[in-house]
Amino acid sequence: MVNVLDTRQLDRAGIIAVTALETDEGIVLFDTGPESTFRNVAAELTRIGAHPEDVRHVFLSHIHFDHAGAAWCFAELGAAIYVHPDGARHLLDPAKIVDSAARIFGDEMERLWGRIAPVSERNVIVLEDLDVVCVPPFEFRALATTGHANHHHVYHWDDTIFAGDIAGVRLGGGPPIPPFVPPELHIESWRESLERIRALNAAKLYLPHFGLVEGSVSAHLDAVEERVCRWSIWFRNRIREGENEAQLMPAFAEYEACDLSAGGATEEDVADYEAADPSYMAVTAAMRYWRKYHPEEVTP
Ligand SMILES: [Zn+2]
Repeated sequence: MVNVLDTRQLDRAGIIAVTALETDEGIVLFDTGPESTFRNVAAELTRIGAHPEDVRHVFLSHIHFDHAGAAWCFAELGAAIYVHPDGARHLLDPAKIVDSAARIFGDEMERLWGRIAPVSERNVIVLEDLDVVCVPPFEFRALATTGHANHHHVYHWDDTIFAGDIAGVRLGGGPPIPPFVPPELHIESWRESLERIRALNAAKLYLPHFGLVEGSVSAHLDAVEERVCRWSIWFRNRIREGENEAQLMPAFAEYEACDLSAGGATEEDVADYEAADPSYMAVTAAMRYWRKYHPEEVTP
């Protein structure tokens, strides 16, 4: 039985989910939410008849704070924390990711994410691509899925996928969108990862932002890929025309909001998307991607 727990970060419902699965060995979590919402997740666990101490296994899609910020809290209660090899060192010593996040979020760090502490080495279990973990009655397979972050896994079992951020953000009545964030956005890898997920032919897809995808999984993946391509080309053309970051930020915010509305999002949904995945991050991410990987395409 899969339960979608709402972290209610900053008191907002339906933005950041923690996915919980009941197993013979207690509760398995997929992502933990940030540390600032640990108490809310504990309350959600009580709602489903469990406690934070019942969480024995935590599978992390990647180590961004909205996904893994509370991993250390569950580790302190004895949970094993599974993570991509390139994410593991940041769990053991978060100083570097705290520094880089502080450059983006500044004084908002504590309010958004809470406290960041290292995860003890004995709780960290590194998973390579295609590694399988047995937690009866399930077998979870990790698939390396880069594009959003280099250290990103999705997890597959039975007919179900926990998709992390690579399979998009879909809130309220809105369409799925790809969260472009710096510094590791890579368009070609993103498309390859979507192809890998598509090949699993899963019936159920769970998103950290937010919950079970209603309707066809393949239609959802197609819609994510269409935006990965269209948005990246939108950026390429503007950067080529010489637009700078300060010009692109309001322009992209408007472009994205129109795209969301056209896809069925209400005004409130659009604000939720902005909370889950701020549009300015896409600007920084796309500029970096084009200049680093295809400089010839963005030279006027
Ligand atoms: Zn992320």
